[in-house]
Amino acid sequence: MELKLYDTLTREKRVFRPLDPANVRMYVCGPTVYDFAHIGNARPVIVFDVLYRLLRHIYGAKQVTYVRNITDVDDKINARAAEQGISIRDLTESTYANFKADVAALGCLPPDVEPRATEHIGEMKTLIERLVASGHAYVAEEHVLFSVPSMPDYGKLSKRPLDEMIAGARVDVAPYKRHDQDFVLWKPSKEGEPAWPSPAGIATPGRPGWHIECSAMSWKHLGETFDIHGGGIDLVFPHHENEIAQSRCAFHTPVMANFWMHNGFLQVEGEKMSKSLGNFVTIRQVLDDWPGDVARLAMLATQYRQPINWTLKGLQEAEKALSGFFDVAANEAEARPAPGVLDALLDDLNTPRAIAEMHALKHAAGRKSLAGTLAFFGFRRDVLDEWRQAQAQAIAIPRDEIERLISARNAARAAKNWAESDRIRDELAAMGIQLTDSKDGTTWEVAR
Ligand code: AMP
Ligand code: ZN
Repeated sequence: MELKLYDTLTREKRVFRPLDPANVRMYVCGPTVYDFAHIGNARPVIVFDVLYRLLRHIYGAKQVTYVRNITDVDDKINARAAEQGISIRDLTESTYANFKADVAALGCLPPDVEPRATEHIGEMKTLIERLVASGHAYVAEEHVLFSVPSMPDYGKLSKRPLDEMIAGARVDVAPYKRHDQDFVLWKPSKEGEPAWPSPAGIATPGRPGWHIECSAMSWKHLGETFDIHGGGIDLVFPHHENEIAQSRCAFHTPVMANFWMHNGFLQVEGEKMSKSLGNFVTIRQVLDDWPGDVARLAMLATQYRQPINWTLKGLQEAEKALSGFFDVAANEAEARPAPGVLDALLDDLNTPRAIAEMHALKHAAGRKSLAGTLAFFGFRRDVLDEWRQAQAQAIAIPRDEIERLISARNAARAAKNWAESDRIRDELAAMGIQLTDSKDGTTWEVAR
């Protein structure tokens, strides 16, 4: 079995070989917990959940460690807590509980470790002190800054031209920076902001910058170098570029992670999602209308590196496809992808091809294999059934309308018009009505 993954750092699809097959290690940048997560945030969660399941399938469940952090110190968090008049801890706790419930509803397994930034301040300070001691960072006006010129191959991940990076960094220009590109590792806290005793001999209490968090938490839970680092494409610069700079310079290692994987961005009905355009969709809102499993399949219909267009049509198609799978799949099977599905996933997680393979299993001999594949992906029959039932009740189809359709179907069957009889059965199935034919006639029930 050969898994190939695209690595953003080397810009190539390569065979994945873990540093230690007995301990395969993956880190994914997690949410900043100040508000409900949006459907774009769900993309990395679902994509890396599929990769996690695949790695567990290949190397064994106990051989894989998946770390996804929680950013619980951030200016947006401070502002939101102040606005709501609640403590930062209360805000981050409740937001994180919502996030966990949302992604569980999307069928995602919890990662092995979900470290919080605020519980790793000690590790961050250790890294910062090391960087200062080795000349990769400096103290200026109670800030600690990473010195970008101290790292000759800074910029390898994003491959942005130097002038563009400088222009980008200028957004955050400050007089105490030696170079425009230098970025903050630690900053002083103002009155009322979360604060910890500062590193590097700084007297005023302060708080960490965002990038240093992930260097500290990946180090603590996965080591100086690990296998896979993931996140959305927007994180390539500056977040991941800066993580690489911090970790490599602190540990004197040639790489931080062997594979850098980035999911493409999600748009809603062809437009960039934004609050001002009124097309901002939270995971919660999607779950109000659809079972999480349908949203999951809709997300996987596009290969993870491509941009994805999130549409109502895509959700409707996913619902149809998933219902079609469960209508023919065996009731139970061991979670295991069918060979064709596995092949597709081994090729840089080609989920659209995997889904096409699942359609090809919709015949009698494929029942078990399809069930195993659905279970492998984390699709749950009961979640879909419950939703279908609620839908049928919600639309309150009149009884005589159902009886009329059944009579029409029986007439079609008597006339051996199988196409018409199937069409009527499908029409009823789409309403959540399931038929059972027996020698005594046809009965119906709300699908469960
Ligand atoms: P944030 O909380 O903004 O740091 O985002 C958490 C994760 O969601 C990161 O991996 C982002 O790259 C990812 N993300 C944010 N917006 C989108 C989007 N529209 N499409 C895909 N991924 C996104
Ligand atoms: Zn990160």
